[in-house]
Amino acid sequence: MSEGSGDDRPDTRFVTGGRRKSLTGPAVNPPVWRASTVLYDSYAELKGAKGSNEDGTFFYGRRGMPTQWALAEALTELEPGAAGTMLFPSGVAAIACALLAVLKPGDVLLVTDNSYDPTRSYADAFLKRMGVETRYFDPMIGSGIAELICDRTKAIMLESPGSLTFEVQDVPAICAAANERGVVTLLDNTWAASHFFKGIEKGCDITILAGTKYIVGHSDVMLGTVSATPKYWKRLRSTAQQLGQTISPDDAYLALRGLRTMGVRLERHERSALEIAHWLKDQPQVVRVLHPAFEDCPGHEIWKRDFTGSAGLFSIELTPGGDDAAIAALIDELRLYGLGYSWGGYESLALPVDPRTARSATAWEGRGPLIRLNIGLEDTGDLIADLAAGLERYEKAACRR
Ligand SMILES: *Cc1c(COP(=O)(O)O)cnc(C)c1O
Repeated sequence: MSEGSGDDRPDTRFVTGGRRKSLTGPAVNPPVWRASTVLYDSYAELKGAKGSNEDGTFFYGRRGMPTQWALAEALTELEPGAAGTMLFPSGVAAIACALLAVLKPGDVLLVTDNSYDPTRSYADAFLKRMGVETRYFDPMIGSGIAELICDRTKAIMLESPGSLTFEVQDVPAICAAANERGVVTLLDNTWAASHFFKGIEKGCDITILAGTKYIVGHSDVMLGTVSATPKYWKRLRSTAQQLGQTISPDDAYLALRGLRTMGVRLERHERSALEIAHWLKDQPQVVRVLHPAFEDCPGHEIWKRDFTGSAGLFSIELTPGGDDAAIAALIDELRLYGLGYSWGGYESLALPVDPRTARSATAWEGRGPLIRLNIGLEDTGDLIADLAAGLERYEKAACRR
């Protein structure tokens, strides 16, 4: 364990997690420990080292050094009930490995219909080629998932709230139904950053984060993480090692540094996003705010029951009738919102998205264009003024048609 105690609250854990003098030395932060080769003092020591396969035992660069171990240890503390955490060069690599660790040819995988698009591509292309059949389900299915579980069903991939449209899933009910039938549950917990929602505590076997987003928090490192219960930890660890997955000590260092301030950043992201979302709700150009803390977001009651807060990422549906030119009029001249895919950094982003192309089991009922907003750490007055001008441009361009 790190210097913290198991009873500490989240804000303390962000500071103490993974800090172990005996492992990383006396400085507050661990050194960036670059290594491939580890040298042994004797043949006997070399032979002995092979036996142990745990963080904290020097073996070879691919198995990590104290910088990576400190990060993994700190992340394990974020998911109570987890036996350990493996690190990956991206969130997608983490999702791919976690699924590979539990699936084999002939298995059926159930995936929530509002999942991250690259998760779908991986299932529909790679897993299909491997002989795994993927079936998509309505994110609001809850305990009804039981009816979809057949003899060949091996795993269920959840994401809550879902990418782009933010439906909140009844994760405890789905996991309970799966667990009763021996089906593994995996959760992409990126939005909640393992902070607002504790996936393993709520019944999941495996939780996944795109650390690229809030853990790193500064839009400068790609990172994926997978944490697992004792039951699945060994399988996850060996699969990641067999696939040769590893991250650089420089990236681990930056991610650990990001983690130290994640509590205060999330607090601000949450507050600013709520303020802006409430303002947006009253604007004539906005039909709907898709934010779990809002009543018209599907699963809002579940969010209230299971989450301790909300992140800075949500979508808005604009009034129907705006074509590409109207969307461009809104987006292209925004001063403070960048146009880009990743999120969770300190800077705000606005991204036009189309959920219709990213689902198959359910239809997207919205009629107006959707814009996904990442609310950064800028002043909310400035962010609102920028959006206000953008919405006016949208309205003008949409009317001209
Ligand atoms: C960004 C993202 C990922 C993928 O993470 P990368 O590090 O970009 O590969 C996975 N899931 C969700 C929900 C994401 O937003």
